[in-house]
Amino acid sequence: MNDAKRLLGFYAHPDDEILSPGGTVAKYAQAGAQIEWVCATRGEAGEIADPALATPENLGQVREKEMLCSAQTLGIRRVHFLGYRDSGMAGTADNQHPQAYVNSDPEEVTPRLVKIIRCFRPQVALTFEPWGGYGHPDHITIHKHTHLALQAAADPGYHPELGEAWQISRLFYPLLRHAFFYALRDKMAARGLDVSFFDQLEERRKNGWPDGKYHCVIDVRDSFDRKWAAFQCHATQFGPDNIFRQLPKAEMAELLTREYFALAWPEPEPGLLWEDLFAGLK
Ligand SMILES: [Zn+2]
Repeated sequence: MNDAKRLLGFYAHPDDEILSPGGTVAKYAQAGAQIEWVCATRGEAGEIADPALATPENLGQVREKEMLCSAQTLGIRRVHFLGYRDSGMAGTADNQHPQAYVNSDPEEVTPRLVKIIRCFRPQVALTFEPWGGYGHPDHITIHKHTHLALQAAADPGYHPELGEAWQISRLFYPLLRHAFFYALRDKMAARGLDVSFFDQLEERRKNGWPDGKYHCVIDVRDSFDRKWAAFQCHATQFGPDNIFRQLPKAEMAELLTREYFALAWPEPEPGLLWEDLFAGLK
């Protein structure tokens, strides 16, 4: 039996792996953990920061490469692309596309995820919190499918031909806290930069996961360089105008020294606070 630490991320787009869990992923990979990642789409509806990098027709292929560059940089050993189409931001025409991930049938997605879970047998899984950080339809969809699949994977009666039942030990929601955005805004304002992007912060704070509700904090100072290098892989998404590229690397490092995780399953004991996603696991 493989007794390595195994971590499986369930995400929607190339680049979802960076901001909230990237330092942690790099840290565990460097310490010898095995890490695999589900990416439901290839981010076909994303930005094209520079027309020299991609066209709307080949953006999915370009972003697949960007994801693989990021995975290699962080130490993710395998990315499972599910091949659905990026559904775009809420309320856009991309939502209606028949192949859009938001329109996928859970009856089709669940067994595919179950197969991955039963084959890899992770002790710890990661996915978005219920609002997906900012309400992106694909983030919300992968959140729902992750819960369905983890439950189904543990049920020996569910499609036994997909592998032996596997019960994970913990599911976490990596958080990009609102406090991070306020701090980023303040640092940018101090430099006289445009901070109009942050006008929607209150809305985000109202709908999003509460900043104070976390159960594990990981110090990622030592892996920030890898996280930052992985971020650079996603060139189509993070052009020179992107808000995460306005400050020098050293200042961004100061804002991102810790990563925060809420324990989604099992139900956390009051006051629980770990410094390791695998704390106490055999
Ligand atoms: Zn995303």
